Amino acid sequence: MTGLSTSLPWLLDQAAAATPDRPCLSFLGRTYSYAEVAGLAARVAKGLQKLGVCKGERVGLCLPNSPYFVACYFGALKAGATVVAFNPLYTEDEIRALIVDSGTVVMITLDLQVLYPKVAAALHSTKLRIAVVCPLSDAMPLSKGLLFRVLKRGSIAPVRYSPAVLPFNSLVSNGDEPEPVTIDADSDPAVLQYTGGTTGVPKGAILTHANLMANVEQVRLLLEDSGLEGGRLLALLPLCHAFAMTSAMNLALASRSEIVLLPRLDMKQMLRTIETERPTLFPVVPALCVAMLSYPGVERFDLSSLRCCISGGAPLPTELKQRFEKRFGIPVVEGYGLTEASPVVTCNRLGEIGPPGSVGRPLARTEVDIRALDDPTRALPAGERGEVVVRGPQVMAGYWNHPEESREVLQGGWLRTGDVGHRDENGFLFLTGRIKEVILRSGYNVYPRTIEEALFCHSAVAEAAVIGIPDERCGEVPKAFVRLRDGEHVSEAELLAFVATRLNPLERPVTVEFRSELPKTVVGKVSGQELARQEAAKREERSGHG
Ligand code: AMP
Repeated sequence: MTGLSTSLPWLLDQAAAATPDRPCLSFLGRTYSYAEVAGLAARVAKGLQKLGVCKGERVGLCLPNSPYFVACYFGALKAGATVVAFNPLYTEDEIRALIVDSGTVVMITLDLQVLYPKVAAALHSTKLRIAVVCPLSDAMPLSKGLLFRVLKRGSIAPVRYSPAVLPFNSLVSNGDEPEPVTIDADSDPAVLQYTGGTTGVPKGAILTHANLMANVEQVRLLLEDSGLEGGRLLALLPLCHAFAMTSAMNLALASRSEIVLLPRLDMKQMLRTIETERPTLFPVVPALCVAMLSYPGVERFDLSSLRCCISGGAPLPTELKQRFEKRFGIPVVEGYGLTEASPVVTCNRLGEIGPPGSVGRPLARTEVDIRALDDPTRALPAGERGEVVVRGPQVMAGYWNHPEESREVLQGGWLRTGDVGHRDENGFLFLTGRIKEVILRSGYNVYPRTIEEALFCHSAVAEAAVIGIPDERCGEVPKAFVRLRDGEHVSEAELLAFVATRLNPLERPVTVEFRSELPKTVVGKVSGQELARQEAAKREERSGHG
């Protein structure tokens, strides 16, 4: 498949041509039509071309959810560039490392104290040629009062403009027709999407135009009957992550819906926005469901516009799904994916009652297979646990600059996910954990997910995560970390006794540590890796003192 109709900029241009006046974005009370966003994206494209950005060069976005993200994403693609989506929470060193790895030449960022200095520092120490700085105040309604409520005083960075540091306005002050660029959707990278990066050096998954177009179409097909067309999607999850990039931003454009953008998690602002902007679809992660359930006074907000929440990115315990649905009357549909698959692989269907705990069946044109953990070429029958492998048009072309790792994870067109799971006879997929997270207790595989599900059955538990810790006798044993719901009390002994009735002896955790907060990744997944790091540091300290 080659040609413009399979490239991402077509998605926006097509929607703008068909429904120019329809609202495309809404940001803190200000609305932008499809024609406005497409016009802005075209001017960004032209501006980048005037700066000398050539086809295939990398343009970085270090932006929170805002109209700038959408306009610059499509503008950079229209110019023929490859987008590198930087997580705005990355440290200065992490940003520098990704600029170097990806070869980013232009970076677009915001004039915030927490962002701009990190990008500016890279101008002198990498091959980054230009930083384009977007003033947040320009994207907001004129009310200064609102601006100050969103930002704290002093959070705007002083910016000294120069030939290497340009204001957004100078990028877009031109006629709006960029030079047309021929895009080969199958081979031209649209986005370098850096994966989690919690272990070792983060790697950039090369997602082609065809990959991302295929995935948005697959998700659109799945949700077609859910009144998606012309609805409103709430984009709170960061657009710099593949989940929201596809299932909030690109999906909205593909269905000519409106994207309600929120720049960061502020529970009250989010609930108010749901009440006033009345979104219909909300991509979430399980931690957000937990936060909503425990927010004091949540029942005072009218959330009735939401027809569905799509949960992804981390396991959604069955108990949590049920609690959420009962409390708010909003169905939660769980999907599964990973950055390397643009990212969605499987998803449950709204209105279809699948088996509890399943992440659904493969999307259209997607195959999912289960392979033996000790031999990735051996396919396993239904019911047996093994590594999940995926084949489909959304599977990445490989990792940027990492041919060996690419060969390792892409074998015969199949993507090895590193996730462990099984299928039932009807093709529903169940996940148990990641290969690296499997706890090897006395030679037996123990899956953290099973233990977390058992902990969640206790009404006092708000969040739980389980990791393996070294043990002299058994090799490894499970340890649980738990955050209790506000006002609830339960002792370690009580909780251990409670889960003991639901788990086999090997699965029973040896200890529970109560925390007031659990470490999270940028999309709000509980970070097992961070907990493991903290445990290792504690052990080291103990052995140092011993
Ligand atoms: P990322 O590449 O950051 O999107 O992370 C992808 C990983 O998140 C997958 O390989 C899974 O381990 C995990 N994941 C995503 N969705 C789910 C889900 N519904 N249930 C369990 N784990 C999930």
